[in-house]
Amino acid sequence: MHVTLYRKYRPKDFEEIAGQREIVKTLKSSLRSEKISHAYLFTGPRGLGKTTIARLIAKGVNCLAHDTITDEPCNKCDNCLAINEGSFIDMIEIDAASNRGIDEIRQIKEKINYQPSNGRKKIYIIDEAHMLTKEAFNALLKTLEEPPEHVIFILATTEPDKILPTIISRCQRYDFKSVLYEEMKERLKYIVDQENIIIDEDVYEIIYESASGGMRDSISILERLMITCYEEEITTEKCEQILGITSTKKMKNFLDKILKKDIRETIKKLDEYWLESLEVEMFFKDFAKYCKNLISKNELAIEEGLDIIGSIYESLNKFKYEEDKRLVGYVIVNNILNPKKQIEIQEKIIEKEVEKIVSIDKNENNGIIENISLSLEEIQNKWSDIVNEAKKVKITFSAFLRDAKPYKVDKNILYIGFNKESSYSKESMEKKDYKEPFLEIVRKKIHPKIYVHYTINDNEGDKSIKNEKNLGQRVEDFFSGKIL
Ligand SMILES: [Zn+2]
Repeated sequence: MHVTLYRKYRPKDFEEIAGQREIVKTLKSSLRSEKISHAYLFTGPRGLGKTTIARLIAKGVNCLAHDTITDEPCNKCDNCLAINEGSFIDMIEIDAASNRGIDEIRQIKEKINYQPSNGRKKIYIIDEAHMLTKEAFNALLKTLEEPPEHVIFILATTEPDKILPTIISRCQRYDFKSVLYEEMKERLKYIVDQENIIIDEDVYEIIYESASGGMRDSISILERLMITCYEEEITTEKCEQILGITSTKKMKNFLDKILKKDIRETIKKLDEYWLESLEVEMFFKDFAKYCKNLISKNELAIEEGLDIIGSIYESLNKFKYEEDKRLVGYVIVNNILNPKKQIEIQEKIIEKEVEKIVSIDKNENNGIIENISLSLEEIQNKWSDIVNEAKKVKITFSAFLRDAKPYKVDKNILYIGFNKESSYSKESMEKKDYKEPFLEIVRKKIHPKIYVHYTINDNEGDKSIKNEKNLGQRVEDFFSGKIL
């Protein structure tokens, strides 16, 4: 039978528990001094060792190698072995998640007065205790008020807020914390040594990040890596590949370019990754995390690191509706290296879209670009007429166009702006079902060769739009004379 790595390495002694130092210390000393409570409440995220520690208490209380209760169970006597196996007759484990518990609690109440069969005390472990029904809780409450001397209750929960305060007040409470990196690494290293695996040092950090501080999850991830890399070294590259994480090497190279403040080289790098089908948003989020880790290891100056992380999140948020993710990548690079030029690169996006539309226009007109002499004012005057006409075609136009405003005409393109809050309207207008009939109306009312383009305009956007002179030139300057 295949035993999962987690079960194989489930701690058999308090010393093997990763993290939870304070809890372990307190419980050990209370076992040693035989000052144990009749009810415990263990809270905290899953996979931190709550039920493992509950079993350790069961062993400490029932180990036959000692005359009394002990904090160092032998793991050899019948009781210890049975508890390790989960087959000890005086240890009753109830999973409240799969079983809401009223029958079990009733059974507990019926049998609670019987002396333990093989041990000193009966241990009732109720996992996911918050899932118990109200009736079960009430039944449990009465038992907790006056439990017999030979009984210990251990309640474990991931959601202590759902436990009745009257229950909590009758228990000794321990809040389990996420495991620290060094603590997790130490435990994983032990397993790695036992299993004779060869593993890159950096892999531990990746596992830690992926497991978000959960010990059980970290062991599951290690197991997955072991299975996939069967009898081969677990390298950082393989690990990143298996877990679908942006490679550290890529991020390191990218950071090198950024730290050299070479915008051209950084963009070149980004393009290179893009061609390897990098997912821009994912990459920058991983990159932000990577920088965060370097800061915490003092390998990246805190101001510099925070600037990078800040620029990334600000831009990702600002351009979450922009479809051309590669351009968003350029914006991020620019914001990191050149925060003052932010507005210019935003214009680059607009410019690129103009090119796109103009090229469609070119094809349709056999290479002749129509330069229509239309004033914005003229269009603005006709705007309510256009909207009314649209409403007749589809009533939903009135909702989508409520906040829309024509703000610019360039060549034969009419720009219609939406504010940030109306991004849904903008997206709707861009859909074929709305885009085409609306274009038809605009063409009928204004000019048969006109195109419509929708944008989101925030305040900065407005500024950049007003300042439209020599847009192309400034974008060119920005990329040192080369439009990418
Ligand atoms: Zn023992």
